[in-house]
Amino acid sequence: MAAEALTCPRPDPATEHVPARPSWDCRACGAPWPCAPVKVTLLDEYREFPSVLMLYLATQFHAAVEDHLATTGAIPTDLYARFLAWPRRAPKPDRDQPALGAVPRRTKRPWRPA
Ligand SMILES: [Zn+2]
Repeated sequence: MAAEALTCPRPDPATEHVPARPSWDCRACGAPWPCAPVKVTLLDEYREFPSVLMLYLATQFHAAVEDHLATTGAIPTDLYARFLAWPRRAPKPDRDQPALGAVPRRTKRPWRPA
């Protein structure tokens, strides 16, 4: 597995759909984070490594739980679905299409006898 596949996305907070803490609403569109544009981006970025996407979302979920507990003393009832349930309901990626920004894979040469 390439090292870059294990890194978390680092969007520009001024222009990207990133969460405002501690509310966890999107800074760009105001929707609860992860908002629809982020979900599309995350599904594409992690299409080859869906378990890494779940680790990333679990980390964000944990941070959101801590923020909500610190600010309101309660955890919103939809927080699990909002952070962790949606990838399972998302359409499966077309693995024949390269991911956005993906480096083309080297194709194997057919084996030929010497
Ligand atoms: Zn957004």
